[in-house]
Amino acid sequence: MKQDKQAPLIHPAADSLLRLTLNKGEARVLMVRTTRMAQEAARIHQASDTATAALGRVLPACAMMGGLIKEEAGRLTVTVMGDGPGGRITCGAQANRLKISVENPQVELPRTADGRLDVAGYVGRSGQLAVVKDFDQCDPFTSISHLVSGELGEDFAHYFTVSEQVPSLVSLGCLNQDGVVLSSGGILIQAMPGCPGQTIAQLELRIPFFANISREIYDRGLRELALAWFEGFDPQVLGEEELFLRCDCSREKMRRALLALGRQELEDIRQTGEPTQLTCYFCRAQRDFDTAEIDRLLQEA
Ligand SMILES: [Zn+2]
Repeated sequence: MKQDKQAPLIHPAADSLLRLTLNKGEARVLMVRTTRMAQEAARIHQASDTATAALGRVLPACAMMGGLIKEEAGRLTVTVMGDGPGGRITCGAQANRLKISVENPQVELPRTADGRLDVAGYVGRSGQLAVVKDFDQCDPFTSISHLVSGELGEDFAHYFTVSEQVPSLVSLGCLNQDGVVLSSGGILIQAMPGCPGQTIAQLELRIPFFANISREIYDRGLRELALAWFEGFDPQVLGEEELFLRCDCSREKMRRALLALGRQELEDIRQTGEPTQLTCYFCRAQRDFDTAEIDRLLQEA
């Protein structure tokens, strides 16, 4: 994959996750900017505008869910399995690193009647959203919810409310056109146990502020926005962390994947007498395995 490190960034701010609490802990808020990651993902996967918009909404959702996992070693994988032509979208988060891919990144759809990118059409309006939390010490924890609209924001809000039973407001957005991501990000507001219904009702009145989140974060900082949006809720910023799109693949992992194919398949590969090349699904990195290495794998198999 060609690495175009000189590509100009639309907004100089780094991608980051901002955490805050409202009303002395009655609610917590996570806000995230994922613009650079969405730009990078669009380039890596040569994604269509509609696919980019979908990736640019799943990235902030996954980043915020990852931000809720306390343990450094905890890994989170979000899979959106809709019935649309885009196919399965998979996003992983560990600490401040994310990776994302989609089955059919090049599928493009006509815009909707009101001129928007048809994310729901691309993802599909029905299907499932699966979240796997994996901690080193115990079995992975999986929860699944149904897609509500395929627009993703509503689907993640539904996931939090139904699967995790935490009343949540979610807004996700990706502003992009003609292959250029201008901004991508999201916000998650969660009522903590004991949060008065009145606070939730008042927070719902603030929804119009962040309904168009990608437009809002395009040229304004997360802290500035948070303090403006939650004025009157005693917003306390707990911290801000930088986020990166960074794959955790390695030659060793690919070697193990080859080994997992089993003896017969390895023998078929060896029969061709050619080196074999594997491509990472997430970062599209390619690694070659020559015939001598296949021979060694065959001895291990
Ligand atoms: Zn990779």
